[in-house]
Amino acid sequence: LLISTVFIALGITSLTGWFLSGIAMQPIQLSYRQLERFTAHASHELRTPLAAILSNAQVGLLTPMEDSASKHLRLEKVAEVAKSMNTLIGNLLFLARRTGRLTPESLKEVDLRELLQQLLNSSSVKTAAKDLNLKSDLLKTPIMVRLDDELICLAVINLLSNACKYTPAGGVVELRLFRKYNQAIIEVEDNGIGIATTDLPHIFEQFYRVEQHQTNSVNGFGLGLAIAQQIIEAHNGHLSVKSELNKGSVFQIKLPL
Ligand code: ADP
Repeated sequence: LLISTVFIALGITSLTGWFLSGIAMQPIQLSYRQLERFTAHASHELRTPLAAILSNAQVGLLTPMEDSASKHLRLEKVAEVAKSMNTLIGNLLFLARRTGRLTPESLKEVDLRELLQQLLNSSSVKTAAKDLNLKSDLLKTPIMVRLDDELICLAVINLLSNACKYTPAGGVVELRLFRKYNQAIIEVEDNGIGIATTDLPHIFEQFYRVEQHQTNSVNGFGLGLAIAQQIIEAHNGHLSVKSELNKGSVFQIKLPL
């Protein structure tokens, strides 16, 4: 699965691929180093949750008399970890499909408030924010938006996971949802390391990573924001950022109602 997914995602037949086609199709050249880094990261990020699923399954098999409460906890863990794999595979497949366009079948009337609440309750978000203070301020009433719920979740998860990755332990990450005129606004704010003004114009480019993040230990492909932007623009929305170095960042999604 990994090899085929990565191969599809990278369009390995020719390393010059058209990624993220649709709205902002950009021809890109993949260097051998980029290919190597991408494959290594994808392998690592899929292997870790897979190991958790395997070990839970094995323990379950070795303890057939396990009480139903522990069995339930184990299955819950397996489901949550599988969801985090699903996010990464979602990102890879999004690249592989090479389209930022939505099909009418994928659009549903969804309560955005409930969707975000479910995201906040998921253990993949809780795990990412485990050393941080994760806050939320969501509209109190339902807000129905026509959207592809899986893709919107992917975009918001990419923003939330960045906020967590680039905020040192003890920091604050906040998810907000409100309505402004005929738009639903989602904001992800952190008080982390921030982004320099010289980097800001480039962070939505595919494979762009701020220089120091290419070499230090923060994992990433430089694709999360490019994918999030494609998804939001495919919904006729807009993704923007305000950031100050060493102070933090606010990413804002605007979706038409
Ligand atoms: P990555 O996989 O590297 O996180 P992204 O496309 O998600 O790729 O982000 C591109 C770059 O933008 C990151 O490498 C990081 O330098 C910067 N960045 C994104 N979100 C944040 C944030 N919340 N705080 C600081 N820097 C960020």
